Amino acid sequence: MTSEQLELTIGWLYPTLMSTYGDRGNVITIERRAQWRRYNVKVLPLDQNSTAEDIKAVDVIVGGGAQDRQQEIVMRDLQGAKADAMREKIANGTPGVFTCGSPQLLGHYYEPGLGQRIEGLGILDLVSIHPGENTKRCIGNLVIEVTASRLAKELEEMTGSKPYLVGFENHGGRTKLGKVEALGRVVYGLGNNGEDGTEGAFYQNAIATYSHGPLLPKNPFVADWLIQTALRVKYQQSITLKPLDDDLAIQAREAMFKRLKVSVATVATSTTKQK
Ligand code: GLN
Repeated sequence: MTSEQLELTIGWLYPTLMSTYGDRGNVITIERRAQWRRYNVKVLPLDQNSTAEDIKAVDVIVGGGAQDRQQEIVMRDLQGAKADAMREKIANGTPGVFTCGSPQLLGHYYEPGLGQRIEGLGILDLVSIHPGENTKRCIGNLVIEVTASRLAKELEEMTGSKPYLVGFENHGGRTKLGKVEALGRVVYGLGNNGEDGTEGAFYQNAIATYSHGPLLPKNPFVADWLIQTALRVKYQQSITLKPLDDDLAIQAREAMFKRLKVSVATVATSTTKQK
């Protein structure tokens, strides 16, 4: 197949309700990096006007953060056939990146600082509780080492080095993992709850994280992993991505490691070592 024949549909969960702190950047990064490889890309909003069929039609899913009020509106809408379609997609390996409020909704429940518990989709075995409006939010730069074993291995194969992610977190809720694997271990910052050293979760091909929308621009190899996985799941064959010039992103990552005094032996950079 030529690149022009490859089609990729990005499903964007509730763009007007769930896109705090630059989470739109994740959609743009996947879109551009796929277009630079000459794939045919579409962005499909998945919101109150969408049906379960729309959810079934996407190849990669992006879900951003949301404030508590918005999370409630989303969960009232994401029920029945739409909730089933989401469960099925993720269980069947459709890749996605879910940030902050989104993983809270993919878990069993989220308890806001004020008000009623919001039931989640129960896709990820985790719960999130906001300890109350007087508790300090978890805000700041974040560096993690990806420890989810299959993802770590695949990212290392793509880049030739150990995968560290640079990010920024801003959340009140604290997440506790059940049996689901953590995305990584916190090297700098607070992560899921500031206590157990875990950050995010990884299930099938769904990446859940507290790191906001600069996640993919700051760590472009993760965007490439999402694209490559989406194409593999869709076309049932392995497609090698053409390397891109990620020099600026690499410099930005290095500047951040230096600023945070994080020393990582070998830092994953760009998609340059594809086999
Ligand atoms: N409302 C959630 C919290 O504060 C999520 C916030 C967000 O997505 N930025 O934990």
